[in-house]
Amino acid sequence: MIPYGRQDVRPEDVDAVVEVLRSDYLTQGPVTPRFEAAMALRCAPAEAVAMNSATSALHAACLALGLGEGDRLWTSPITFVASSNAALYCGAEVDFVDVDPTNANLSVAALERKLVAAEAAGRLPKIVVPVHLCGEPCDMAAIGALARRYGFKVIEDASHAVGASDRGAPVGSCLWSDVTVFSFHPVKIITTGEGGMAMTRDPALAERLRLLRSHGITRDPAQMVGEPAGAWDYQQILLGYNYRMTDIQSALGLSQMARLDAYVERRFDLAARYDALLADLPARPLKRSAESRSAGHLYVVRVAAERRKAVFDQMRAAGIGVNLHYIPVHTQPYYAALGFQRGDFPEAEAYSAEAITLPLHPALSEAEQDLVVSALAAALRA
Ligand SMILES: *Cc1c(COP(=O)(O)O)cnc(C)c1O
Repeated sequence: MIPYGRQDVRPEDVDAVVEVLRSDYLTQGPVTPRFEAAMALRCAPAEAVAMNSATSALHAACLALGLGEGDRLWTSPITFVASSNAALYCGAEVDFVDVDPTNANLSVAALERKLVAAEAAGRLPKIVVPVHLCGEPCDMAAIGALARRYGFKVIEDASHAVGASDRGAPVGSCLWSDVTVFSFHPVKIITTGEGGMAMTRDPALAERLRLLRSHGITRDPAQMVGEPAGAWDYQQILLGYNYRMTDIQSALGLSQMARLDAYVERRFDLAARYDALLADLPARPLKRSAESRSAGHLYVVRVAAERRKAVFDQMRAAGIGVNLHYIPVHTQPYYAALGFQRGDFPEAEAYSAEAITLPLHPALSEAEQDLVVSALAAALRA
């Protein structure tokens, strides 16, 4: 089976992990701060707070921005369930904004229409979470302008977009957002096994994220209630979690980061090659903007909805690990039970009925890519 995505672990990555295993600290040692510093340097002037998953980072970001009961968070229905679950963890309400059919990212026009209606109804969201689907940045300048006008906070779910850039600004630099979240799950651009990171330009927000990831405990006298009783003193000043990344994970991530640009370039070249090879087939790729540089996390084509199942099954039978990103979150049984219905977000539903994710990862060879294309062509002809 040619997988749709796969990690690329090299001998130098293994050496970096083994070095930590032989060291004094498996967690809370010197390597996680080094991984954070490397990502912060890339995304300057944002700071980096490493966590044990993007899901944890999304939850902590919502809490750090004060999301709670009676608040609303809006995101795209075409995402992994973690983007919206983060709001439910906080006791807040979730709603969705339909997608742009050309790239399946949250539609800025739909967002603006929904904001106008919400303002009239007194139900504006506290947080909006744009998701950079497939690594293609959302129109963050436009979303940032709406955030200022309507007074909401923005968390970019950049789980797919490590290494992407938007009009020259690296995704993660938070030029138009409060927090940006990365995932380092093995199918993503670089991996730590499990892992995530929250980026922010706001030092107070970064400090809250650090507290939230480690039980809400501080050893900083400046944050304590009263004077510290001695050098041993620590205080829990808010309800936090254990969302820390281990040094073992950070060593893998830091070692992988050395190849981040090469990975994104390879993905970009493979995506451009798919574009050319598929040009004459009834399979439409998602649009990538010329103003930004996608991280090339996923390559999705849309085929006729009535043919999708047959094409999908035939490609799987031919050993091609096609996939679907994603089933609209609002149609999941858990969300249906919250009151969402089929038909609520028609562009998202139409996209999801037509989408097929083709294999794309840095170790994919051109010969394998040719096999994918001929299997797709055969399935579409059948
Ligand atoms: C992978 C993913 C997540 C969750 O990431 P984890 O690190 O596995 O918690 C969240 N949002 C999106 C869009 C993702 O693709």
